[in-house]
Amino acid sequence: MTSRLSRLAVALVATAGATLGVTVANPAPASAAMTICYNTSQAGAYAGTANQSASIWNNATSNLTLSANCGSNLRIYQITGGGSYAVRTSLGNGRVYIDTQQAAQYSPLRIMTHEIGHILGLPDNYNGNCAILMSGGSAGTSCTNPYPSTAEANRVSSLFAGTFSATDRSADIFRDSWPAPLTTVG
Ligand SMILES: [Zn+2]
Repeated sequence: MTSRLSRLAVALVATAGATLGVTVANPAPASAAMTICYNTSQAGAYAGTANQSASIWNNATSNLTLSANCGSNLRIYQITGGGSYAVRTSLGNGRVYIDTQQAAQYSPLRIMTHEIGHILGLPDNYNGNCAILMSGGSAGTSCTNPYPSTAEANRVSSLFAGTFSATDRSADIFRDSWPAPLTTVG
């Protein structure tokens, strides 16, 4: 009797373990690429610029696709004065405003791609480096680079890979800070 109970207990534990094993092996459903429908009905002169910017982001990243006028995750507006800006309501969702006065000074495509970068989870990085998209206007009016750096593009891909917490993703910065393996000398 005791033996049978023990075997039953072992079987139950084994079953529970198998269930846990499955859970651990698949912590979350495979993340499907997010489609970000952008709407240019109020983008005025910058609708074409928005399409170009969407192509740049689509080519540079994975796990997301910007698609024109299939919905309104992202609305693009043309405004005059006040500066260009982005309002992110959640990752991949929000509004981008392109200031015609600013776009007359700076590259409209760089502004557009930068502002959409905010919607895709990137913060500003005003370091004056034209190779960095999120350096924005700090790189000066002569900087027309509309492409995210590899690091910027990779960060966006990671954010859309399924973990949407910026705090979780920032932990990646410390990954290279792990001590190097000890080297045996002699
Ligand atoms: Zn910005």
